Amino acid sequence: MFIRHAQNEKIETMSHVAASLAHEVRNPLTAVKGFLKLIQEDHKHLPKLEQYINICLGEVQRTELILSEYLSISKPLTARHEVINFSEQLYVIREVMSPYANMHNVELEVHAPDSPVPVLANPDEIKQVLVNFIKNAVEACSEVSDAKVILRLSSEEDRVVLKIKDNGIGMTESQMKRLGSIYFSTKSNGTGLGLTYSYQVIHAMGGTVTVASKPGAGTKFTLIFPEAEQVG
Ligand code: ADP
Ligand code: MG
Repeated sequence: MFIRHAQNEKIETMSHVAASLAHEVRNPLTAVKGFLKLIQEDHKHLPKLEQYINICLGEVQRTELILSEYLSISKPLTARHEVINFSEQLYVIREVMSPYANMHNVELEVHAPDSPVPVLANPDEIKQVLVNFIKNAVEACSEVSDAKVILRLSSEEDRVVLKIKDNGIGMTESQMKRLGSIYFSTKSNGTGLGLTYSYQVIHAMGGTVTVASKPGAGTKFTLIFPEAEQVG
């Protein structure tokens, strides 16, 4: 209980700094990205230039992802949940995260039912959660040659199950125990915020997270949510 309280206070203190910093940096980044895309479309015949532009776009996206991690944790979770189609949401996220996965030579696969999978969620929050898990999975695969991240969604009676699997570096038992605590990161450039936020969102949705992992073999996260009544 005490730890939880201290954790919330830490989050609040850094929230103000994070929010203003992230807002300040995000707008110019969005502008740079827009112009790079324009140049990219106009200079397809200059291969070197295109390569440089692709690197820039990849770096811009990387920065955007870090900023959105900070921004998400600086905002209180909304109580406003609506019925979303989780299948559709996953395919949208695949489009968003494919360039990031490609940049890291990681194959990103999504398997979800064609029929709607209704879940009660805040669309922006659940999007950020999926981005956080995929980003971690891709980063875990940086040293692997046939790297793969697979998301598999299924609907089982009154629950919705999402499995996120990678064949990356995996985790030790003690690392697994620390998942979700603020600032826990094993990366030189990590924020240690992604899973703290994600676990909060998942719990607020009445969901659970479990993890299975082995060093050198990979990691599988299993997210379980209550299924909602119908898609709105
Ligand atoms: P960050 O990514 O900034 O380090 P996160 O909260 O997203 O912070 O993740 C915390 C830590 O959990 C990571 O630094 C890593 O050690 C571990 N982790 C999370 N997902 C995975 C994964 N798929 N494979 C291996 N380790 C992971
Ligand atoms: Mg992360």
